[in-house]
Amino acid sequence: MIKKILMPTDGSETARKALNYAVDLAKQTGATITLLSVIDTRFHIAQQIPASSEVPLTETMQDYLRQNAQSFIEAAEKVSRAKGLKSKKVIRSGHPIEEILEEAEKSKVDLIIMGSHGKTALEAAFLGSITFGVIHRDTKYPVLIVRK
Ligand code: ATP
Ligand code: MN
Repeated sequence: MIKKILMPTDGSETARKALNYAVDLAKQTGATITLLSVIDTRFHIAQQIPASSEVPLTETMQDYLRQNAQSFIEAAEKVSRAKGLKSKKVIRSGHPIEEILEEAEKSKVDLIIMGSHGKTALEAAFLGSITFGVIHRDTKYPVLIVRK
């Protein structure tokens, strides 16, 4: 029943916990994992500045964010490979909630596994906004939330 798992990661500690859970479940079920990192384009300061004057800044920033995403998705792939699992790496950019759900549809996943919190990990927050957004959208995808 579980053949494809989508594991969105922001490289945080809780996302790492969720990855371990996903890897163990994939081993038990024979599922494959799609690792997804979304370059969040919501708040980039560079986008507030007229593009003509600040193109280098924008590019530097995008490069930095892409490299960052690349490095933690590769770390995640290492973890899954060490357990003998094959995984697919996907990097997207945009709004994390939209991109996670679009990838779920594109890869036809059966389950999304993510952390309750991410990089911000506010003590007071019951749930991070990305996870909150994913579970509150009207979609058909089951979501498993691993607590911090
Ligand atoms: P907030 O972002 O709302 O300030 P937070 O960072 O603590 O709070 P979320 O961003 O919702 O919480 O993170 C929860 C989970 O969502 C992470 O453990 C990870 O699985 C996933 N996630 C968050 N951001 C991304 C991203 N940019 N790309 C892929 N997955 C993400
Ligand atoms: Mn976050």
